[in-house]
Amino acid sequence: MSELLSVFLHLLLFKLVAPVTFRHHRYDDLVRTLYKVHNECPHITRVYSVGRSVQGRHLYVLEISDYPGIHEPLEPEVKYVGNMHGNEVLGRELLLQLSEFLCEEFRNGNQRVARLVQDTRIHILPSMNPDGYEVAAAQGPNASGYLVGRNNANGVDLNRNFPDLNTYIYYNEKYGGPNHHLPLPDNWKSQVEPETQAVIQWLRSFNFVLSANLHGGAVVANYPYDKSLEQRVRGFRSTANSPTPDDKLFQKLAKVYSYAHGWMYQGWNCGDYFPDGITNGASWYSLSKGMQDFNYLHTNCFEITLELSCNKFPGQEELPREWLGNREALIQFLEQVHHGIKGMVLDENYNNLAGAVISVSGINHDVTSGDHGDYFRLLLPGTYTVTATAPGFDPETVSVTVGPGEPVLVNFHLKRSIAQASPVRRAPSGGRRVRVKVQPRAARKKEMETKQPRRGPA
Ligand SMILES: [Zn+2]
Repeated sequence: MSELLSVFLHLLLFKLVAPVTFRHHRYDDLVRTLYKVHNECPHITRVYSVGRSVQGRHLYVLEISDYPGIHEPLEPEVKYVGNMHGNEVLGRELLLQLSEFLCEEFRNGNQRVARLVQDTRIHILPSMNPDGYEVAAAQGPNASGYLVGRNNANGVDLNRNFPDLNTYIYYNEKYGGPNHHLPLPDNWKSQVEPETQAVIQWLRSFNFVLSANLHGGAVVANYPYDKSLEQRVRGFRSTANSPTPDDKLFQKLAKVYSYAHGWMYQGWNCGDYFPDGITNGASWYSLSKGMQDFNYLHTNCFEITLELSCNKFPGQEELPREWLGNREALIQFLEQVHHGIKGMVLDENYNNLAGAVISVSGINHDVTSGDHGDYFRLLLPGTYTVTATAPGFDPETVSVTVGPGEPVLVNFHLKRSIAQASPVRRAPSGGRRVRVKVQPRAARKKEMETKQPRRGPA
């Protein structure tokens, strides 16, 4: 055999059986790895960038789905974000492993993975802070100072950099006002870092339903709110359990991760104890302007924060154990997006109604339908009274029983309100619907009472 042929065969063999390699990936290596996964699974993946860091590095996302680049109505969007703190590197490596794993297992005919890929649109952002990572990586594992590389290149902690919407929701909960999709401040772009701005625009351009943000420095699944409801005590916000209206659901989502994880559920980790391996964010320590609370208050997305390792920058030799400890949890968490209820909101002519509000009686947090008219509402098993409303249309209310398995399909066909003189006004340029008052309050209330079935347990 000629030497050239031998080298060629060797390379071919290496390419075919190349094992998943456990190493820390610097920026160039990370980009190569994402494109390698894309080249291995071109039909179910797409690489795209949501923007650039301060130093110009791309924030690359790997999308995994049966039709990458396309939102299929009723197929939920889910995301993972890693390495928001540049020196907390395990999430970055786990998300690269996960990307390779999903690709390989899909190719190997793994039924569970194939189903996940077919029914879900998965977006993976392995590094939200690639500049900080390079600073931390230059120091190397273990040697790195506890905070070296945590912030972005402007020295800003990205998980304290999102617009603070908690203050508004706490006010609204007390005095009335919207319970979802709180607006951004007018000058928000000038108040946030480039990485934060890119991520906010990303959150606004997809109708994400479920998400996790991967950190390090502890081992616990942390759920909102992160910012304490309590008043400041001598300048500091006191730590106090600060539940969202979806508290039970968030606890369940956090427990799915902790119990599918190798050891998180045990609770004793890194010198801390968290029962079941989960915690409300603010009851651990209060944090303002974080990404988790922002997801819940500004979008339809339910996000939790996963603290995955005591050592923020573990050595390479620890990566295989960490991957085995997290693999099942990462998959099970993605599968959680397929619970609760979902459906289409249509008018009488079967046109999609985007931005329709879906309310669940007893839970003071609404979600909205996406651009395609489809909505997703994660719910625990139980019986619920669900109402869809859209400006210019009569509300429609149904009773629905949710089981522990597949989501229940609940479609709404809204009828145009008779009391409305003119059809739904459209904004001059953007095409977004404008809210118009359509029906006298008393008439609507009376109709709601007749249509609304008996309230079930929530
Ligand atoms: Zn962190």
